[in-house]
Amino acid sequence: MSHLMNTYARLPVAFTHGEGVWLFDETGKRYLDALSGIAVSTLGHNHPRLVRAISEQAASVLHTSNLYRIPRQEELGDRIAALSGMDEVFFCNSGCEANEAAIKLARFYGHKKHIDHPEIIVMENAFHGRTLATLSATGNRKTQAGFEPLVTGFVRVPYKDISAIRAVGEHNHNVVAVMLEMVQGEGGINIADDDFQRELRAICDERGWLLICDEVQCGIGRTGPWFGFQQSGIKPDIMTLAKGLGSGVPIGACVTAGRAAGLFGPGNHGSTFGGNPLACAAGLATIAEIEDKALRDNAVRVGEAIRNGMREALAGVSGVVDIRGRGLMIGIELDRPCGDLVRQALEAGLLINVTADRVIRLLPALVFTEQDAGALVSALAPLVRKFLGQ
Ligand code: PMP
Repeated sequence: MSHLMNTYARLPVAFTHGEGVWLFDETGKRYLDALSGIAVSTLGHNHPRLVRAISEQAASVLHTSNLYRIPRQEELGDRIAALSGMDEVFFCNSGCEANEAAIKLARFYGHKKHIDHPEIIVMENAFHGRTLATLSATGNRKTQAGFEPLVTGFVRVPYKDISAIRAVGEHNHNVVAVMLEMVQGEGGINIADDDFQRELRAICDERGWLLICDEVQCGIGRTGPWFGFQQSGIKPDIMTLAKGLGSGVPIGACVTAGRAAGLFGPGNHGSTFGGNPLACAAGLATIAEIEDKALRDNAVRVGEAIRNGMREALAGVSGVVDIRGRGLMIGIELDRPCGDLVRQALEAGLLINVTADRVIRLLPALVFTEQDAGALVSALAPLVRKFLGQ
């Protein structure tokens, strides 16, 4: 009997090693990894630059404490500020922890403006994490069920509904922020278009609200720009990062700009492991490699190749509702629940995921090549056809 708490419906496979976009199980069978640990393994498996960076860091200073200066953290903070045009970074260890920091910051900002019960507008189908505040911000009743009372102070609107956001602003004077993903990941690869992004920025400016972008899944070059909001040229007041930032080493970040910067002082927030040298070395190596190898351009090109390939291979197949995405964040929506495909793909040596019941989700490493895209399409399209009985 396993002594692990039963929190995951795990597939019956364990990987012993990986190489680039391939993972190998105990029997030596290889799998094309089109999920990269859910947008985590940015550089693929066993990437020499990442391995070198974390080995060297582990051999010098592994962990000290945020009681002292951490040069690697300062370096990574500078890199993220330069890439985003933002001002300050708080480092933590995961996406939910980054979002907790963002929620606390927004409340703190509200209190400074003498709003005693600050509220944050959040979206339907959003996913922000599973700690209590981030679970409460998440827009999925099934995920929340059984954990009531949820944290109060969130107002929910349909995703991308600018009129609904305006309407909340008309009557609710406790609103201090709007929080959303520019591409919803768990929600089924739903994309906030440029016009919506700009209008949202304008409303936040009009009302003095903070715009909080959760870039945990769509950030770090996955959709083409470094961050999803850069698609439209806007800048949020707060953004959160995690997942792909460390390419497999746990790290999270809450990044602020303008009026959201300079709010916290010593004692307002903290995290023992946050921004430890090892995680920051991984973040620095990840960013450097994305830049040196133009992996953001690669994400755009290869993402397009995957979508086009799937469209071609599934042309005329009924039951395929939509094939969408940005860069290497891809959703193939079917007209029925398709969770069974995950196991069928595994048997065929392909790692994929299904989210929002009906959306096949592909989140390959940014090093995925056009050849890998071809292999993915050749493996996945027949499974989808078969699943749909065609
Ligand atoms: N925000 C988004 C957009 C996510 O996709 C996730 C994880 N799926 C999280 C937050 C939570 O991240 P973590 O699991 O690292 O807490």
